[in-house]
Amino acid sequence: MKKIGILTSGGDAPGMNAAVWAAVKRARSFGMTVLGIQDGYRGLLERRIDDLTQRDLSDIMHRGGTFLGTARCLDMLTEEGRGKAVQIIQEYGMEGLIVIGGDGSFRGAEVLSERGVPTVGLPGTIDNDLSYTDYTIGFDTACNTAIDEIMKIRDTMTSHDRVAIIEVMGRHCGDIALTVALAVAADYVLLPEVSYETEYDIDNLSEYLLDQKKRGKDSSIIIMAEGVNWNEKNRAEILKDCLTEKTGLDIRATVLGHTQRGGQPSAFDSRISILMGVRAVELLHEGLGNRVVGISENRIIDLNISQALDMPQVFNEELYNMARTLAH
Ligand code: ADP
Repeated sequence: MKKIGILTSGGDAPGMNAAVWAAVKRARSFGMTVLGIQDGYRGLLERRIDDLTQRDLSDIMHRGGTFLGTARCLDMLTEEGRGKAVQIIQEYGMEGLIVIGGDGSFRGAEVLSERGVPTVGLPGTIDNDLSYTDYTIGFDTACNTAIDEIMKIRDTMTSHDRVAIIEVMGRHCGDIALTVALAVAADYVLLPEVSYETEYDIDNLSEYLLDQKKRGKDSSIIIMAEGVNWNEKNRAEILKDCLTEKTGLDIRATVLGHTQRGGQPSAFDSRISILMGVRAVELLHEGLGNRVVGISENRIIDLNISQALDMPQVFNEELYNMARTLAH
């Protein structure tokens, strides 16, 4: 292959820029040209495409977000849109395409591959919700950012004998919540994967907090993933009101929100982003497509897109039970 394209799609994640940088560098070493597509599939359909080979990306690689931009593109769900995407890819002479994003973005890559475009997907999502890979690009940074913020909240909560409810990101996957809860030694963690007997596990939670108070512990930290009662808005506030009513404790709710998406990628995220960007180009250089790259047992792996997407999400119950044991 002489010319390939690259795009970032779905939610942004720290490390996406490092992956693009590494892909461009590796491609250059093979004498390949890399075209950068703005705003995911939308930019592709709108022909917003630039040559990245000539650009110096060394200042950009350390930054969070994605300099290529990302956007939703519903046209990719239609036959017409998919056909147009293939036509534009051919028009620009792209012989392969790297897609950095989550499972939706991978579906797009799969569809293009079925239409004859060799594609390679890299897992770019802070949620860590792709089962074929141990870690996704951005997850580690998001956890570190959340931990940093929670430690600051803890300082003030302890001073005032308050209970903190902190909502972290993760709609369907509670990996951020669970990792962060372990790391800050949270007192309680609520995850979307667990079905609780009462809404927000309110009865157990109240009992737990009152018991803690009896034992002289006035300040506690409760970590909640946003996916717990996803249908509700202001989940942390609702939980705060219910718990305050039941326990009479001084409780404050904080939603960490988009701060978890930004920031310089951690060493771990930089490393996997770079290694995955390199592998993606190597696969295309070997003429392989319809692949996704991931990390398993500390080794960079690649597998078929459909196979990867069909792998069921496995909840780490052992880790969850461990977090609960350590909290009690
Ligand atoms: P993520 O990649 O993080 O899961 P989305 O689900 O929003 O994010 O998907 C990103 C983009 O991928 C969508 O805006 C759309 O352009 C494309 N996409 C999603 N699902 C499909 C699909 N089934 N077929 C083709 N393209 C898709």
